[in-house]
Amino acid sequence: MESSKLSCAATCRCCLLLAFVTLTAPPRAIGEIGRAASKVGAARSWTIRRQPAQLVNGSPVVIEVVPPVRLTALSAKWLEHEVLFSYDAGTKAWYGIAGVSLETRPGTYILELKGTTSRLSEVTFSQNISVRAAKYPSIAVTVAKRFTEPSKEQLERIHQDKTVKQDAFQHTDPEREWSGNFKSPVDVPISDVFGTRRTFNGKVQSMHQGLDFAAPTGTHVSAVNSGTVLLAGPLYFEGNCVVLDHGQGLLTLYLHLSEIKVKQGERIERGQEIGLSGGTGRATGPHLHLAVRWQGVYLNPATLLTLKLP
Ligand SMILES: [Zn+2]
Repeated sequence: MESSKLSCAATCRCCLLLAFVTLTAPPRAIGEIGRAASKVGAARSWTIRRQPAQLVNGSPVVIEVVPPVRLTALSAKWLEHEVLFSYDAGTKAWYGIAGVSLETRPGTYILELKGTTSRLSEVTFSQNISVRAAKYPSIAVTVAKRFTEPSKEQLERIHQDKTVKQDAFQHTDPEREWSGNFKSPVDVPISDVFGTRRTFNGKVQSMHQGLDFAAPTGTHVSAVNSGTVLLAGPLYFEGNCVVLDHGQGLLTLYLHLSEIKVKQGERIERGQEIGLSGGTGRATGPHLHLAVRWQGVYLNPATLLTLKLP
């Protein structure tokens, strides 16, 4: 049950160290090793850039790949996920989005790229990517008992919501729908960062799997990027909730809304209003909880909002 809870509380702090690294084959930056296994195009090398440069548990990452030969398809395996890439004609590069779960231990994880050329031959390349441990804060929170000790009826409702969410999460678009930088959904200060370890009413523990904004009820909430409405409706913990599908397995969730202004299946542009903030569901007061979910893994929205993207 804990893993399906997505809601929030108080206090704030935010720090991020972001940069762009460029690693060309064979990359020999400290802690990073690349191994070219191309069957064609041996004279040219792969170029891989990623943002942010330094990854921690909870980080989203955008991977930019310029292969040595023209490809018709590109995918990768990393941290037991399949990373989906889309070609960007403007920059002549392939872009894929991925993420490191909060549970991922510090270490080095191999990114295995596999491309298909126009002649249907396969080209591969692999690179080690280091993950460090993030430092996330701990706080104590008090919420209504119905959220930590739900009744039989409330448990039924929670169970129903879980099915609704699981069903929605299974119908996502593998193609990239996002385009350009991700934009903050509201123009108000942050009230709690991602990753905070919370003790609810002195007992139940959870990790804060989103970013809270101190938005008073009725604040206009906009889409962080282009996408399609995957879910729009009331849920027990989340309150009035909108889920946007940005493609490539990337979703954004907007929780505790007082009003929803979009419908399931609707195509949304970045910056478009999707609802008004509120304090519905398990919330200690009005605020906006923004969550970023990639292939079932919750990632730090603050990091995603700082990336410079095509
Ligand atoms: Zn929250």
